Amino acid sequence: MLKECLFCKIIAGSIKSEKVYEDEHVFAFKDIHPKAPIHVLIVPKQHIDSLAKLDESNADVLKPVFLAAQKIVKEEGVLERGFRTVFNCNPEGGQLVYHLHLHLLAGKQLGGGMGA
Ligand code: AMP
Ligand code: ZN
Repeated sequence: MLKECLFCKIIAGSIKSEKVYEDEHVFAFKDIHPKAPIHVLIVPKQHIDSLAKLDESNADVLKPVFLAAQKIVKEEGVLERGFRTVFNCNPEGGQLVYHLHLHLLAGKQLGGGMGA
């Protein structure tokens, strides 16, 4: 846990969030500025700044993140309709919070573009 990290505080419960899912490895909550009817952030409990900081020692965090995404879309009933997962990385990737997180978007027809 990083003291000054917003998402570490959310995981610890010292900042409130709308929790969607939690297990041993991940915490998932609603994005405060949703870009779709379902917009969930899936965060590994282990603090890693970004995808840029992933290496052999910590890359195992990705598996529970993606499994959580699948559980959430099943729970929300949108697995068949479809969904999108996005990692923003570093300034030009649009990353604002430097605790690795997967955006899960669903619940509407998402645009075909990649937001470039
Ligand atoms: P990124 O740009 O990929 O770093 O995404 C950060 C996301 O965190 C944005 O979509 C914000 O809307 C979201 N966010 C920031 N603060 C909070 C918060 N306190 N609770 C929930 N989501 C937040
Ligand atoms: Zn953190």
